[in-house]
Amino acid sequence: MIDQKGEVTDIGIYIHIPFCPHKCGYCSFNSYDRFPHLIPAYVDALKREIRDGSGLIKGRGVSSIFFGGGTPTSIPVDNLTELLELCLERFLIREGAEITIEANPVTVSRSLMSSLRSAGFNRLSLGIQSFNREYLHTLERSHSPEEAVSSFEVARSAGFDNISSDMMFGIPGENLTGWERDLERLISLAPEHISAYNLTVEEGSRFYTYLTRGNIILPGDEAEREMFEAAIDMLTASGYNQYEISNFAKRGSESRHNKIYWRNEEYLGFGAGAFSYLAGERRQNADHIDAYIEGINSGEGLIVSSERLTPEGTARETMMMNLRLMEGVDREGFSRRFGIDPYTLYNDEIDDMLSEGLIELDSNRIRLTRRGLIFSNNVFMEFV
Ligand code: SF4
Repeated sequence: MIDQKGEVTDIGIYIHIPFCPHKCGYCSFNSYDRFPHLIPAYVDALKREIRDGSGLIKGRGVSSIFFGGGTPTSIPVDNLTELLELCLERFLIREGAEITIEANPVTVSRSLMSSLRSAGFNRLSLGIQSFNREYLHTLERSHSPEEAVSSFEVARSAGFDNISSDMMFGIPGENLTGWERDLERLISLAPEHISAYNLTVEEGSRFYTYLTRGNIILPGDEAEREMFEAAIDMLTASGYNQYEISNFAKRGSESRHNKIYWRNEEYLGFGAGAFSYLAGERRQNADHIDAYIEGINSGEGLIVSSERLTPEGTARETMMMNLRLMEGVDREGFSRRFGIDPYTLYNDEIDDMLSEGLIELDSNRIRLTRRGLIFSNNVFMEFV
């Protein structure tokens, strides 16, 4: 793919590890706590998929590798290091590439962190979510506030100098003061990167059942907006740059991997349910662990969906994804990529949003305003 500067883009590699020690109540990700016996067969299938798939991007540079899940650190560390070694051997990895692994605090130990660091992982994404015992209990997380802090400290002392932490607001029973305390606690640990997400309850999760039965009550739109604004104010005042709607980083620590998604550039995903986007085609692997392993081992294939995007579909998606970034849409770059200025293409939509104060426009950028950040869903609806 040619990027908006007219250069061939690097690729991102995503490796999905769908195992978790315990399934959290709100979770609708492709993750399972019931099949640990399938780990060896799954890792073998992954290795095979990586070996076969590496030919698809021969000669292209890889600037990021992301082990996500699930909880990657819930499988044996030797499996993780073997998988990373295979990627390093099979792909043209750029010098200084970002190599991230997600971890749940309950799985973190000094020996695990040291082994991962020595193997070449240089970024840790720690799923802390909250330091409040009550909120963690509500979320059905398996770690305590003390484990959240100690896992962070252990990772730091093992040499992880680039740590991201996921935090969640809008938890049932949470109030603004509780959220601000969580943020203060996190800021005092000084991670390089923070993802601050509003809890969303998706169909299929246990929370969805609780919500429909009236067993949980969410704080509500107004309270959640206040929490989001508090996050923007507190994190930016503490030296974090909000570079995407939900993501904040110290200068130079923005997630390279996620920027590939937000710039709508190419990536290759391996593992159950993983998506790839390559040469204008988006495809998804079978998401059930059994079906994935079976698809690889039988050689019958494991792709369950594939879609070739039209130029217009790609342009719309790119508008939507680029607007998530504070840098916004680069009009010149967009014009180079799609042969038309985004303002010409989406004149009516853009004029509507300008009049509602949701976006701002200058000679080369279209970006969200503060109001647009808070009501970003309304903006994205325009491009669906
Ligand atoms: S640790 Fe993450 S992926 Fe695993 S069940 Fe909890 S929310 Fe889902």
